[in-house]
Amino acid sequence: MSEILYHTITDADVEYLRSVTSPDRVFYGEEIEYDYHHDEMPDFGTHAPDVVVQALTTKEVSAIMKYAYAHTIPVTSRGAGTGLSGGAVPFFGGILLCLDKMNKILEWDLDNMTVVVEPGVLVMELANAAIEKGVFYPPEPGEKTASIGGNVMTNAGGMKAVGYGVTRNYVVSMEVVMPNGDILQFGSNVAKNTSGYNLKELVVGSEGTLCIATKLRMRVVPQPKVSYTLLVPYPTLDSCVGTVPSFINSNLNPTAIEYMPKSLLDDAEYYLNKIMPHKTANSYLILMFDGTSTEDVERRCDEAAAICLEHGAEDVFLCNTDERKEAVWSVRGAALEALKASTTDMDECDIVVPRNRIADFSRFADTMMEKYGLRISIQGHAGDGNMHIQLMRDDMDKAIFEKNCPQCMKELYAKAKEFGGQVSGEHGIGRARVAALEEHMGPEMIALFNGIKNAFDPKRIMNPGKVIR
Ligand SMILES: Cc1cc2nc3c(=O)[nH]c(=O)nc-3n(C[C@H](O)[C@H](O)[C@H](O)COP(=O)(O)OP(=O)(O)OC[C@H]3O[C@@H](n4cnc5c(N)ncnc54)[C@H](O)[C@@H]3O)c2cc1C
Repeated sequence: MSEILYHTITDADVEYLRSVTSPDRVFYGEEIEYDYHHDEMPDFGTHAPDVVVQALTTKEVSAIMKYAYAHTIPVTSRGAGTGLSGGAVPFFGGILLCLDKMNKILEWDLDNMTVVVEPGVLVMELANAAIEKGVFYPPEPGEKTASIGGNVMTNAGGMKAVGYGVTRNYVVSMEVVMPNGDILQFGSNVAKNTSGYNLKELVVGSEGTLCIATKLRMRVVPQPKVSYTLLVPYPTLDSCVGTVPSFINSNLNPTAIEYMPKSLLDDAEYYLNKIMPHKTANSYLILMFDGTSTEDVERRCDEAAAICLEHGAEDVFLCNTDERKEAVWSVRGAALEALKASTTDMDECDIVVPRNRIADFSRFADTMMEKYGLRISIQGHAGDGNMHIQLMRDDMDKAIFEKNCPQCMKELYAKAKEFGGQVSGEHGIGRARVAALEEHMGPEMIALFNGIKNAFDPKRIMNPGKVIR
């Protein structure tokens, strides 16, 4: 990777980019705003692009890529820039290709329950448009202003992944622009398909390192009629996360199973200036049940409450009004921002382990606090074993934090591997976790990844330095 000699952008290149797009959508040098240097985790590094181009059409994207390919210019795609792994940060400079202005919902096909969107459509825009059409787009990652293109390219998960699956499960087909400018179609509007290699599945979650998504056909489903939330306080973290496997092997089909320690709840309440219905317990499970009728959802909530109490829950609070549900989910949704606001510097990972190892892994992560003297927050998507773990510097000496953090992360990743887990459940590898992925996968797998990368992108101009070196 480091041996590739990338072309340095010149005035002539900028002129060309303006000629195939529009002068008011190309920003060069001093015109580039700082926002384009980073994503939502600037702690993982920032870097200025040489030129920012806002594309409006697939044809423009293709013309840009043909030129970049011919001149060996690195290109980093960017959706809404809400990523948490440095994925959209152009660490090698070159072109930052922004897809946020390609933001139209193009076509509904409710006979086949699909919708075609441009990549810059925001998650909340698609979710709202689906409701207006009388259908439901279920993936709901915490950040609703992320783009669908970004969600597809990171295979975003979110709180409802337990019940509805992750973004991958909703991608029917996609139009992509390849690094050499070719426009290809991966997948099609069919319900099943065994026609050759499944490149759509390969590209979902590829973090802009293989090609650029310019159109996406997404699946929608019928709307649930009723949705209730349970807030469940526990005296210990162990009893709290220890309940999770009982839901997984029940037939209660929860939509979401989240967990939050009290300390995080306090931070989030303070950050939002809101009050949770209950806040004195050590740990909380938050459960959601969607269904087709009140009777069905009430029955499942009753059975779920019994399971929680059997596992040592202090109580179970039913949230069946919009106001109560909002109180709980807004506090859960503010977790990351609240933690960021509560400290000086932060490192984070989103390790995923088999669901029956969540309690073991949480206990292990807890021991790291004392070992490294760090404040560590452990919370997240308990229902799919996906822990969000934040290491906070607070008033620790910066040099000590920078020495302790990588060591602590190394131990967390090693323990996850021992438990049969993976490096990232949903935030992706980006730039931040390249070394951890290498360590986890080993040289044979990384060589295979490199072979795939070279087949798509022989000049290695697509988002260099991400996922693999
Ligand atoms: C408060 C908060 C909560 C969050 N909660 C969740 C959560 O619950 N679950 C979750 O999974 N994530 C979560 N995220 C992370 C983030 O929102 C997701 O990673 C999201 O998918 C990024 O979308 P984006 O449009 O911002 O993409 P960007 O950050 O712009 O880009 C992300 C990656 O996708 C690539 N990319 C973007 N668009 C394209 C395209 N059209 N073609 C090719 N490559 C492209 C980029 O190159 C980059 O590698 C959260 C973030 C925040 C700030």
